[in-house]
Amino acid sequence: MSDRVRCNCPRCTIRGLMGPAVLITLGVLFLFNEMRGGFFSFRNTFPVILIVLGVVSLASTLAPADGHISGSAPPTPPGAAPPRPQNSFPDQSQGF
Ligand SMILES: [Zn+2]
Repeated sequence: MSDRVRCNCPRCTIRGLMGPAVLITLGVLFLFNEMRGGFFSFRNTFPVILIVLGVVSLASTLAPADGHISGSAPPTPPGAAPPRPQNSFPDQSQGF
């Protein structure tokens, strides 16, 4: 879908589960709210979202980052020169 380099290290994989985990938790809590109400109303169960956020964040922090790929720089093929940054002010480098 996107052009970004996807890293498959355990840390980034677990971090990618943050959004789906929060969505599933929200869905389950709203389901409880509709089915049971009372003690299971969303007013009482919303801290579960914070717990899920904390657990996923803790798991991603503790997971090893072996083979981590930084998303900003695409890997250059061997033997290729690294890309040079464009000089945005070419006139200033030639004179004075
Ligand atoms: Zn990674």
